[in-house]
Amino acid sequence: MGQRLGVERGGAELLGGGEPVKGMDSYAQRYGGHQFGNWAGQLGDGRAITLGEIQCEGEVLELQLKGSGRTPYSRTADGKAVLRSSIREFLCSEAMHHLGVPTTRALSLVTTGESILRDVMYDGHRAYEQGAIVGRVAPSFIRFGSFQIHSASGDTETLKTLVEHTIRTHFPSHSSKDDVEMLAWLCQIAEDTALMIAHWMRVGFVHGVMNTDNMSIHGLTIDYGPYGWLEDYNPGWTPNTTDSSTRRYRYGQQPQIAAWNLARLLEAMVPLMDDPEQLHDVLSAYTTCFDQHHNQMWVEKLGLNEFRDEDEELVRTLNSLLQEVETDMTIFFRLLCTLQSPNIEYFTSAFYDETTVPVQAWNEWLEAWWSRVEGQPNREAMLQANPKYVLRNWMAQLAIDAAEKGDFSVCESLHELLQDPYGEQPEHEEEWFQKRPEWARNRVGCSMLSCSS
Ligand code: AMP
Ligand code: MG
Repeated sequence: MGQRLGVERGGAELLGGGEPVKGMDSYAQRYGGHQFGNWAGQLGDGRAITLGEIQCEGEVLELQLKGSGRTPYSRTADGKAVLRSSIREFLCSEAMHHLGVPTTRALSLVTTGESILRDVMYDGHRAYEQGAIVGRVAPSFIRFGSFQIHSASGDTETLKTLVEHTIRTHFPSHSSKDDVEMLAWLCQIAEDTALMIAHWMRVGFVHGVMNTDNMSIHGLTIDYGPYGWLEDYNPGWTPNTTDSSTRRYRYGQQPQIAAWNLARLLEAMVPLMDDPEQLHDVLSAYTTCFDQHHNQMWVEKLGLNEFRDEDEELVRTLNSLLQEVETDMTIFFRLLCTLQSPNIEYFTSAFYDETTVPVQAWNEWLEAWWSRVEGQPNREAMLQANPKYVLRNWMAQLAIDAAEKGDFSVCESLHELLQDPYGEQPEHEEEWFQKRPEWARNRVGCSMLSCSS
């Protein structure tokens, strides 16, 4: 696929894990993190290598390979990645970019020709899979856990050096010279994180493994693993089977988990503060900022002119109606953009079983919304807030199934489709503007995923 995307032969070799070219000073980053709420010590980078940094339009961009082999932090694992997970990272990070969600980008995907032994569901069923490497790009891959590891080991000097490096290189309008400056920088991180989470909620993205080592210091969606997309609207859903007992990282809890993760980052900064008590203000900044973005999200999704107190009730009722019977989130909101009169019949294709739809309650809600927008919702804003095409779990799986047989055409079609998620693209409706097919309901890779692969 690397070559098909226009990477020259030498490039494909490099991006496929070949020898770094002269002048490159490649390295793996050291970080730790809280996994599922517990401090897990040193974790990575176990399978990511930074090739170097480039300057692009005044911005620093880091080029990284994921899955190219062992690093000093691989522990007992092989440092490699399989085609399945690499396709998922490649397609989803690009889809997120075009949805307007802050994210790392994918540059390349190269198969390695290697067979890699994996136990997909950690249940003793091991099988060989094809190896692959994703080239990815971001201002940096520095995570909350990159700071935590130094704080946890009491290495304040290295912590300070990393903070100074991060600010100098990536946050040039900030500094770490005193508490006031530190707080301003940390508030920036809190705000960037709040914006990212509000976008996730808007498009129905569930990260699946929001450990602190998977939280970017830039508020970018990072480390695409057992993520998923809400199909039927269920705030309690998580695609990650490793998390099935507590569903810590379920869709509806992502805003609170980001705050919890931020609190762990702030704790790590305590040694650098004269008055650490002030760090509490950063958490308040996160909450205020998230609430603002979240209200604005509803303004756009529902085509309102502003968010009023009374709209909270409208949103609350909508949330519970969407959960009453299985309802496709993406299709529902997209159809709402073009509704001409308040009647639930217009939404038939969003329901998994039309016969169970609470018709009267829905029509009451639609009428309440219709009168709130005076029959003239801001359709333009709605069409930009409610995507028509997202990388549904089964769509990624179809691309993987074909690619594993050597056919990358589905990957390529989806890559193209998802570059215009808000466009109508009527020629693709029948295939991709569809709710989850029955075969995908309980299939591994669609409704069930595990952590690392
Ligand atoms: P993840 O769940 O992908 O965020 O991974 C958690 C940690 O395990 C990270 O530090 C990874 O670098 C590491 N890891 C995951 N898979 C591998 C692998 N195949 N080889 C080495 N390290 C890995
Ligand atoms: Mg990770």
